[in-house]
Amino acid sequence: MGPPGAGKGTQAKAVAEHFGVPAISTGDIFRANVNGGTPLGVEAKRYMDAGEYVPDEVTNNMVRSRIAEPDAGNGFLLDGYPRTLAQVTELDAMVEATGHQLDAVLVLTVDQDAVVGRLLKRAEIEGRADDTEDVIRRRLEVYAEETEPLIEVYAARGLVVSVDGLGEIDEVQKRIFGALDSVPQS
Ligand code: ADP
Repeated sequence: MGPPGAGKGTQAKAVAEHFGVPAISTGDIFRANVNGGTPLGVEAKRYMDAGEYVPDEVTNNMVRSRIAEPDAGNGFLLDGYPRTLAQVTELDAMVEATGHQLDAVLVLTVDQDAVVGRLLKRAEIEGRADDTEDVIRRRLEVYAEETEPLIEVYAARGLVVSVDGLGEIDEVQKRIFGALDSVPQS
C-alpha cells in the first residue's frame, strides 16, 4: 500500500520475483483492458481518467478471478488492492475460500511533494491519461479518504510492515526485502 507514485508497481515486481509468486496489479489489469478495448476497459476508463476508483464490485470480481488462476496457487502479491474497506472485507472472503492467509501488508511511505514530482515526471515518459496535475491531485485525495484508513485496519491485525519509499529504487528494494524477510510466511 502507499499513495499514487509511491513506487508500488516497481517494487511489487521485484518482491513478487523474490518470493516466486505473481504480482497482481489491479491498475495494470485495468490498463490492459482499456488498451484492449474490452467492456471492462471501457467501464474502468471512465473512472480512471477522472482519478476516481473503479466500483468495488467490478474490481472485486476481477481480483477474484485473477487469484483463482493456477499461477496464484502458491500465493500472490497484490498491488493496488484492496483500496476500500469493502475490498478488505471481500479480500478476506477470497483469501479464506482459496485456503490462503495474508502474511503481510507492506506500506511504502513517501511525502506528498515527492510523489507529485514523480507522477508528473512519469506523465512525460509514459503519457498515462491519469497523470495530469488535476487528476493526480484527485487521486491523492481519494487515496487519503478511502485507502489510507485501511492501514489502521491491517495494523490492528499486526500485518503492517512499513518501509520508507524515498530513495533510489535499489535502496528501497533492499529495505523491503530486509523488512519482509523477518515476516513468517504461511
Ligand atoms: P496509482 O497507484 O499510481 O494511482 P494504479 O495503476 O494502481 O495507479 O491505479 C490506477 C487507477 O486504476 C486508479 O486510480 C483507479 O481508478 C483504478 N484502480 C486500481 N486499483 C483499484 C482498486 N483496488 N479499486 C478501485 N479502483 C482501482
